[in-house]
Amino acid sequence: MASSPTILVIGGGLSGLSLSLFLTRFLPQATIKIYEARPASQPSTSGTINMTPNALRVLDHIGIYQSLIPDGYNFDTISMMNHRFDTLATIPMAGAADFGYQALRIERSFIHLALLAKVKEQSQIEVIYGSKCSSVSESDSGVTVTFENGTTSTGDLLIACDGIHSTVRKSFMANPEDHDPKYMQQVSIGGFISTSEIEKYNTKNATYPMMMFGPESETGANFMIWPYTRAGDEVTFFTTISKPDEEEDWKSYAGDGLKLKELLTSVFGGDDSPWNEMVRKTVELSDPERYRFWAFYLHNLPDKFYSEKARIIIIGDAAHAMPPSGGQGGAMAFEDAESLAYALSYAYGTSKLEKLDKPQGLEIVQKWSEHRIARIKTIQELNKRMSDMRKGNSGSTSGMMFTFKVWVIWILGLLGVLGRTRRVINDYNAKQEMINLFGEDVAKLE
Ligand SMILES: Cc1cc2nc3c(=O)[nH]c(=O)nc-3n(C[C@H](O)[C@H](O)[C@H](O)COP(=O)(O)OP(=O)(O)OC[C@H]3O[C@@H](n4cnc5c(N)ncnc54)[C@H](O)[C@@H]3O)c2cc1C
Repeated sequence: MASSPTILVIGGGLSGLSLSLFLTRFLPQATIKIYEARPASQPSTSGTINMTPNALRVLDHIGIYQSLIPDGYNFDTISMMNHRFDTLATIPMAGAADFGYQALRIERSFIHLALLAKVKEQSQIEVIYGSKCSSVSESDSGVTVTFENGTTSTGDLLIACDGIHSTVRKSFMANPEDHDPKYMQQVSIGGFISTSEIEKYNTKNATYPMMMFGPESETGANFMIWPYTRAGDEVTFFTTISKPDEEEDWKSYAGDGLKLKELLTSVFGGDDSPWNEMVRKTVELSDPERYRFWAFYLHNLPDKFYSEKARIIIIGDAAHAMPPSGGQGGAMAFEDAESLAYALSYAYGTSKLEKLDKPQGLEIVQKWSEHRIARIKTIQELNKRMSDMRKGNSGSTSGMMFTFKVWVIWILGLLGVLGRTRRVINDYNAKQEMINLFGEDVAKLE
């Protein structure tokens, strides 16, 4: 088996597909089987996603970055504004000169399909759809996965890429309930609209994307308007709203655009609304058919991303879900994928993959895991600040908190703190990080 290890990847989302591509490059004789619960006819979820330079660097290394540019909206800054439509700060997000890449907002399915197209070029990778994993187990010699339909598959190594509600995480951790996803008391509601329908209300010629903060209310008050097409002629708009109680039936929201539009109208619309016309009109003119809904969940960060024998490793949302308000969950999944592929290749080499449970291999997986956990903690902390900024006040008075928030944004913008934060996020380069961790040998891996 040493010359042709079998690597089982559970989940064919962003992390599963990108990891598989890096593994085939570094371990060309490996057989990789991706098991995906979704049907082949519907490989991706819908919606748009923001890709910052740290994510785009990984996509560039995979070889799909250039092909995505014609399908997404490039930008370098975000206009932070108040509800009256005054600009508070212009926050640097990205930029070719400073970070190597402009940021890119794009339909998520374009990234997914570009990754899938690359995967299809690789004869070593097989994607098996409609295969929902129900449990995993490891032994000294390998790993076994069982599927809901009762079938099983075995391999040398299993990488869990099965998202926030990961079955693999529950299956191999000592106290899985400690890592059950918890509702974060926030939901996001948004939709899509043509820029031409709302541009006339952009009375101050503010640059897109716009992130607006308003007076606190029980529901929280923030509103984003974000182009996602190359020409910027279509925007997605969304808000994060505080909703203290988890509801059994989120699906009834997701499928009911009228209900979602009514909810947004109750927060932002109406004659006595303090919100600017750009926001009010965006909600008023939006098509209920094009609304989307997400409830935010998080799970506790495990203290390591691997099993006892290190034959099971978790990455992406399965390992460390992030609140979407920070826009870094996908980026972290990509960083995990590239860095893990380097670490595994360095640790075992193709011919030594079966020695995963031996001390040296364990030590390297452990080092990788510690490195990633430190990085995730840093990004989670930065994310939390952004998430808190969007939270409601749950009933306490508004004016003071809002004024304080506006001042914080303004002062941080003035001092360049927000720009320095971007450097921490944007500059991650998996190869360099792995060279720093394991030494110059890693530089030989291509
Ligand atoms: C509203 C919203 C906005 C976001 N915006 C951004 C953003 O702007 N920028 C950013 O970087 N990130 C963003 N994220 C986060 C990002 O979407 C996730 O972090 C990313 O998708 C994680 O990728 P993943 O591959 O780990 O998990 P997923 O994308 O969840 O993929 C998991 C895959 O595993 C499959 N699966 C699940 N269970 C099983 C099973 N038992 N057996 C087999 N297969 C299984 C699923 O069908 C899925 O295909 C956002 C998230 C949300 C919800």
